[in-house]
Amino acid sequence: MNQSFFIKTYGCQMNEYDSEKLNELLKFNGYKASKNFEESDIAILNTCHIREKASEKLYSDLGRLSKFKENKAKVGKKMHIIVTGCVAQAEGDEILKRNKSVDYIFGPQNFHKLPKVLNDSKSEKVFNDFLCEDKFSSLLPSTGKEVSKLVTIQEGCDKFCSFCVVPYTRGAEFSRPLEDIYAEVSSLVKKGAREITLLGQNVSAYKSEILKDGKKVKVKLSYLCEVLSKIIGLERIRYLTSHPIDIDELLIDQHKINSKLMPFLHLPIQSGSDRVLKKMNRKHDKKFYLDLIKKIRRKNNSMAFSSDFIVGYPGETDHDFEETLDVIERVKFASSYSFKYSSRPGTPASIDNNYVNEKKADVRLKKIQEVLNNQQKEFNKSFLGKSSNVLFTGKGKKINQFVGRTPHLQPVHVFSNDDLTGQLLKVELSQLTSFSFHGKLSN
Ligand code: SF4
Repeated sequence: MNQSFFIKTYGCQMNEYDSEKLNELLKFNGYKASKNFEESDIAILNTCHIREKASEKLYSDLGRLSKFKENKAKVGKKMHIIVTGCVAQAEGDEILKRNKSVDYIFGPQNFHKLPKVLNDSKSEKVFNDFLCEDKFSSLLPSTGKEVSKLVTIQEGCDKFCSFCVVPYTRGAEFSRPLEDIYAEVSSLVKKGAREITLLGQNVSAYKSEILKDGKKVKVKLSYLCEVLSKIIGLERIRYLTSHPIDIDELLIDQHKINSKLMPFLHLPIQSGSDRVLKKMNRKHDKKFYLDLIKKIRRKNNSMAFSSDFIVGYPGETDHDFEETLDVIERVKFASSYSFKYSSRPGTPASIDNNYVNEKKADVRLKKIQEVLNNQQKEFNKSFLGKSSNVLFTGKGKKINQFVGRTPHLQPVHVFSNDDLTGQLLKVELSQLTSFSFHGKLSN
């Protein structure tokens, strides 16, 4: 009988993409996907190292799984426990030390080796080389028919922000060749995808080479967006996550001239204080960020922005925090993610002992989230009573209800007797409940 597997994915969309690819790879090699760990012979935890809680969660899940493995062994059944992803890369040996029931560790650029390792029952337990090229060339086309798909185009990061583990867990920046991405997106569109989100830890640093008039020419994300927008049937293109210093004029122009490129940009700033930005090694200051937002809005006034914020970074003063609030006040974000600083081992910030008092950081986080939530509400309210193009991605929770997204990623629920999945339709946004709309199809 075929062995079954279950993958639990922690963290970001890049991990979701990796899990989907691993799923395809295992199925291709004769393994069967199961619905939960309880029914699986192979338990895979695809981990994230960005937040402290994510690795804590891993160790608690491993505790539960090892009990499960012991019980299975008592009735003569075998189970493999495998940890993949960024925690595997950063703490592989530590995981094996802390939990003896783990069979294998695969860093995020090694999971393509998993079927072979299982087959050969290797004695080696840790696979954590940086093998981006190898990984992407081993992946299989997706068989999923979802309307909105993620496509990783770039992995790794050379920016070395002082708080971030990505340069250590995902390695140096690597961009997939443009023709591979084009082939993957075309195949997804043929299967029913209408929206593609191009992913990368530092997606705006994407670069590739094309042959033009017999010569090799360097191209960037702007060119990739232009080329992909010519694929018939593809309605929407998004990209994330960007670094402000990589957003160039050509990419800004795309937001003006490419109607398939959505007017919504996730552009992390992390802090509004020049002093903190310098300590974070973000390579830009507050003015640069605000000027960039202005420049993009000048080209396309329907552009909306989201961002990431860290509060309580070592040494952050009340004044630094006020500077962050000032950026928020000036930009008016459509949505955002904010976190209290948590130290990641091995990063330069982790040896900065200038901690911000826990209570103070809590107060700042509460304040920033209140302001950002209010901005999100105000942004959404400005769409009430108007009509918007909605791409329907699937069924809602209620009978005959369908869910879609506006160009600015706002969720919209509509009732219809017809299946709306995959359709791009005009919807009147008549009601707003917390952060999603209810509407009806426009005539
Ligand atoms: S740019 Fe993003 S991924 Fe790269 S080091 Fe900074 S925070 Fe991490």
